[in-house]
Amino acid sequence: PKSLTIGLIPADGIGCEVIPAARQVLEHLSSSHQLKFRFVHCDAGFEYFQKNGTALPQKTVDTLRNDCDGALFGAVSSPSHKVAGYSSPIVALRKHLDLYANVRPVISTKDPQNPSQKSVDMLIIRENTECLYIKKEQQFTDENNQVYAIAERRISQKASERAGRMAFQMALARDSIRQQQPVEQRRWTGKPQVTIVHKSNVLSVTDGLWRETIRGVYENTPEYQTRINLEEQLVDSMVYRMFREPEAFDVVVAPNLYGDILSDGAAALVGSLGLVPSANVGDTFVMGEPVHGSAPDIAGQHKANPIAAIRSAALLLENIGLPGPASNIYNAVDATLQAGYKTPDLGGSATTEEVTEAVCKYL
Ligand code: NAD
Ligand code: MN
Repeated sequence: PKSLTIGLIPADGIGCEVIPAARQVLEHLSSSHQLKFRFVHCDAGFEYFQKNGTALPQKTVDTLRNDCDGALFGAVSSPSHKVAGYSSPIVALRKHLDLYANVRPVISTKDPQNPSQKSVDMLIIRENTECLYIKKEQQFTDENNQVYAIAERRISQKASERAGRMAFQMALARDSIRQQQPVEQRRWTGKPQVTIVHKSNVLSVTDGLWRETIRGVYENTPEYQTRINLEEQLVDSMVYRMFREPEAFDVVVAPNLYGDILSDGAAALVGSLGLVPSANVGDTFVMGEPVHGSAPDIAGQHKANPIAAIRSAALLLENIGLPGPASNIYNAVDATLQAGYKTPDLGGSATTEEVTEAVCKYL
């Protein structure tokens, strides 16, 4: 059997509940798929910081980089006030491992109890390394003693180009998976489509560079031009259209901040943040990560929905060359939801453990 070493970084809050759930599903999968997983626990997070003075020990970075074929991250808590010496380990990990795109599939599951649910099957690609998240902020006081603050926003040609290229490649990959499905099961029946999100009518220099660079990638790659439709949407109208007609979008590529906001918003379309997975993807490493945070309001109560983390494990497999086992997990998750196993965020009363057991049962 193929042997894979997966780094597990549960970190804080419900991260410590949903990552073990994802691990359980992977272990269950391995017995039936000629796969052998070895799991390595890695430390990180705010709790770890409070005990040890660092949120991301060097050992975690080294272990992931040198010993692991991929990783799964849970969630971190960030203090609401500034704590000296603390900075988010997830932002640092994305940087250390050069995970330059955050890939977020938002997919609705047909729900017999909710026939009015909109049909959503889109992939949001969020640039992961720059924009306002470079965190160059400063506070000043002007000559009239008025306090103001300025944040720098970085958009580079290089980061825009590789985010764009990933969007086009993933649009093609989604298309080839669709081609294997019976036509009546496909939600997207046309040519693959990539939508560039920007606000270059106002931010003509930064978002202008983003838009022009991605357009350039498209125009210079004949395969993209013949096989993909390129669209664009201003970020504000993107939000509007995404809620009105989510079925109009296939792959969406956005700068870091817009991508963060859009994908949390898109989670509302499919019922809960607890359902939406993501993967941080670079050229040499992939780290799955549920979109949600550490949810301190429900931590330790067996209420956390494990599906976002379980789907993140599937997305990890998909992005390290194992689409078959990944799709088995997706199908088992759909079966679990359709059978009515739901945690409280979806209006049910199942526990984290019951939902996880059900996914294993349907695998
Ligand atoms: P959150 O995603 O933790 O929670 C938002 C709401 O959704 C809460 O009501 C929570 O109970 C619910 N929720 C989230 N995940 C759920 C799940 N799997 N099952 C059931 N319900 C779920 O966001 P927040 O409340 O804004 O932030 C809480 C903490 O998480 C903060 O410290 C924040 O900084 C951090 N955070 C971390 C990440 C990350 O690790 N990437 C992302 C967002 C927020
Ligand atoms: Mn977010």
